[in-house]
Amino acid sequence: MADDESSDPKDFVRSIVAADVEAKKGGGRVATRFPPEPNGALHIGHAKAIALNFSIAEEFGGTCNLRFDDTNPGTEGVEHVEAIIEDVKWLGYDWGDRLFFTSNYFEQLYGFAVELIEKGLAFVDDQDAEAMRANQGSLTDPGTNSPWRDRSVEENLDLFQRMRAGEFEEGERVLRAKIDMASPVLTLRDPIMYRVQKSHHHRTGDEWPIYPMYDFAHGQSDAIEEITHSLCSIEFVGHRPLYDWFVEALGFEKQPRQIEFARLNLTHTVLSKRYLRKLVEGGHVSGWDDPRMPTLRGLRRRGYTPEAIREFCAGIGLTTRDNTIELARLEHSIRQDLNLRAPRVMGVLRPLKVVIENFPEDEVDELDAVNNPEDESMGVRKVPFSREIYIERDDFMEDPPKKFFRLGPGREVRLRYAYFITCVDVIKDADGNVVELRCTYDPETRGGDAPDGRKVKGTLHWVSAQHALPAEVRLYEPLFAEEQPGALDEGADILDQLNPDSLEVIEDARVEPSLAGAEPGLGCQFERLGYFCVDPDSTADQLVMNRTVTLRDTWAKMAKREKK
Ligand code: ATP
Ligand code: MG
Repeated sequence: MADDESSDPKDFVRSIVAADVEAKKGGGRVATRFPPEPNGALHIGHAKAIALNFSIAEEFGGTCNLRFDDTNPGTEGVEHVEAIIEDVKWLGYDWGDRLFFTSNYFEQLYGFAVELIEKGLAFVDDQDAEAMRANQGSLTDPGTNSPWRDRSVEENLDLFQRMRAGEFEEGERVLRAKIDMASPVLTLRDPIMYRVQKSHHHRTGDEWPIYPMYDFAHGQSDAIEEITHSLCSIEFVGHRPLYDWFVEALGFEKQPRQIEFARLNLTHTVLSKRYLRKLVEGGHVSGWDDPRMPTLRGLRRRGYTPEAIREFCAGIGLTTRDNTIELARLEHSIRQDLNLRAPRVMGVLRPLKVVIENFPEDEVDELDAVNNPEDESMGVRKVPFSREIYIERDDFMEDPPKKFFRLGPGREVRLRYAYFITCVDVIKDADGNVVELRCTYDPETRGGDAPDGRKVKGTLHWVSAQHALPAEVRLYEPLFAEEQPGALDEGADILDQLNPDSLEVIEDARVEPSLAGAEPGLGCQFERLGYFCVDPDSTADQLVMNRTVTLRDTWAKMAKREKK
């Protein structure tokens, strides 16, 4: 990875941590955390942060906490907490007994706020949101002090206590830090610490009518947990002076060191919960776990493995500069992983019936098929062959061009693991559509080779008509055809960029009988077609299969062609 910030260790974050350990900062201890807000499902961007935090802890013999920054009861919920826990576990990380919630610190945080008031470093402001905004100043102009900024400590304590008692309505009063309205660092312009919010919290119930702002809670939570390295994405650079200010003002002995890294962006993908929620709530996808979603649950349902995602995260490197990774790269990681471990099966997406005229009607030939040519230990299975089979409609052309090496009238091809067949007749319906092929087979070619050494150019996948299982197959394309969705003009909506063809459902595919009873989640390769996995929508009578990824990177090629 070209990365001018990295020196000896893998990346600049690890360099900093290594140097701190070397210098015995904080006793040389390493403690990290992954701090999700439980307001949506985790996405592949979060996976980058999770992998980073947990692997650094592991590499340096430290600890990594899972902490929910649950300071926003309006949008957060226990269902997200449970889903996040499940997803981090699924990714393969273990926080042991180090599961924490910012809401567990509400009492402590309240105490910190009181402490700052007592130190003359916080005040209750009666300005409404509009007035506060007007007095905020800008990047070029200093802000204006609130008229309530110089309240006495006693008055502030009294008002804050009454805020807590629920005496005020939302927006009526806030608690602010008293720092510097002229600071060039905008986050230091008397930031809000507490606001009145009369929402039910999924853990603390109705105990609190006020909630700490994320900016007040986050740094203190890190300090309480004695986090040594607070790794976060780049948008928090401007918050670092504020976090340091709070921790300093409160006199924490062990101060976390914040290091920012660039967020993961992926082409053809939005990674903002705000947009993802919009897709879910608007019914544009089937849920947070829709296989087209970049969420970990979506990717899992799509057939991604934790190994592939971890490999992807390890490979994309760490920088402080904004960058966008090709979606093709994520697809490459799952292809690599499944190539090594997914069993091969045969499935026909768009079946065309083939009758082998010289094959006895009531005979079934059980043929040996290799489960995975990359891994002999995966063994061999039997695939039934009979007089009537299905091949892929695309694998036949009545009037094939020169380069088409598959089936055509009078042509001979190999059926994978089976026999050579030659097309002797084409049956059509009244409209001239091909509905059936009549072929002959050469019994001498059992297993796929001709004893006389004659060659065929094409090898087709197939299934035995009487043995095959019906399946619904869902083919996916990116949710966004745009390479950089979300780069919106004013008034434009992310929904306008949705790819209308992101899902194609094939109702009547056929798959080989070895998939009978396959459990949801099982991944396999349909030979010649791609990697697929069993969807939880499957029933006893009907398999539902998701295409995880094609065998080759067709999407990138398509995008390139379009650009030209
Ligand atoms: P979103 O913008 O998608 O809502 P968020 O940052 O609000 O994400 P949090 O739950 O607060 O979501 O994120 C938890 C952690 O994951 C944070 O430390 C954040 O920096 C990190 N994170 C979130 N998105 C990404 C991303 N795209 N790449 C890397 N890290 C990310
Ligand atoms: Mg956030």
